[in-house]
Amino acid sequence: MLPTYFDHNATTPLDEPVLQAMLPFFRERYGNASSRHEYGRVARKAVDDAREQVADMVGAHPSQVVFVSGGTEANNLLIKGAAARCQPSQIAVSAVEHPSVTKPAQGLREQGWKVRRLAVNAAGRLEIDDVEIALRESVTGLVSVMLANNETGVVQDVAAVAELARGVGAMVHTDAVQALGKMPVSFAALNVHAMTISAHKVYGPKGIGALVLDKRLDIKPQITGGEHEKGLRAGTENVPAIVGFGAACALAANRLTELPLKLQQMRERMEQGLRTMGVVLFGDGAERLANTSYFAIPGIDGETLVMALDRAGFAVASGSACSSGGTDPSPVLLAMGVERELARCAVRVSLGRDNEMSQIERFLQALQGEILGLKRLVAVEV
Ligand code: PLP
Repeated sequence: MLPTYFDHNATTPLDEPVLQAMLPFFRERYGNASSRHEYGRVARKAVDDAREQVADMVGAHPSQVVFVSGGTEANNLLIKGAAARCQPSQIAVSAVEHPSVTKPAQGLREQGWKVRRLAVNAAGRLEIDDVEIALRESVTGLVSVMLANNETGVVQDVAAVAELARGVGAMVHTDAVQALGKMPVSFAALNVHAMTISAHKVYGPKGIGALVLDKRLDIKPQITGGEHEKGLRAGTENVPAIVGFGAACALAANRLTELPLKLQQMRERMEQGLRTMGVVLFGDGAERLANTSYFAIPGIDGETLVMALDRAGFAVASGSACSSGGTDPSPVLLAMGVERELARCAVRVSLGRDNEMSQIERFLQALQGEILGLKRLVAVEV
């Protein structure tokens, strides 16, 4: 039997209606959306419909949606593409961004850009004063601040950042990959110039995402070739994936009223249980995504606990999935001022729509057992 899945910030299972919507585009509706004949027209219509569904989900106009291969590509396209159209100045990114933002930002340094890291407090929240200082101190071309963090689930006040950035004429981008489907996300309300989203975090397929763009924004394409996506992203459209992304957004939009509430109730019960076990909860007290709990049991290595829980029938993560495999403590936790030793003990539980309260109860029991076992082991080793 497969373990109970508690790792929805890494990826989500494909929704059955999403799969059903995609299947015809693997079979009889296999046309290239650029072809002029009936096969092509069917594919083009499907892409247009999906673009509308994605735009509706984030309160944008369909013409603002650029389909790309996922969140990583959208972040790269925006940062490299926007920077290429400006004189080198300063890029300001929060200290807790995903590597698909921090690495392209570092790359700009070689082109003469100054990279300013915007500090977060102990709860993982951005200090707005720091943003103000950073924007005042040197000319800033671009500000990138994620809406919700993949590890802690902590939500940033992106609208406030956007107001400050616009005040100094800077472009503002937000990575909303984790927020989508877990809280309302509105491109217009956030007042940003660009936003990144990805399908596989909202029960859609992997390998498809979008950059939502202010129509006046001029960015340089990073993949050139044909005139797909208005020349911003060349390459034959992945029609089945785009259709799946659209279907997933339509379903996610309908679930937004009841899903966060259900997740919140399960998360609260879990954290109530965790507190009795003496865990340290990260991001506690800050506004967080309803599904995410990030904690450490001092003295028990996170990777070891993840493997023990896997054997006990629960799939959870240590740090973010994208950086696991390495033994370095999470940069997100270090940015929050967490000691390296404690950061190495971090474990993330991210709940999803199929989880039930009974699984939370079983998880707490299993965790209690594993903690006792591992503590005994640590004691013997010492
Ligand atoms: N941004 C954040 C906050 C993420 O959590 C992830 C994936 O984990 C990404 C970007 C990258 O998205 P993708 O997996 O679609 O490339």
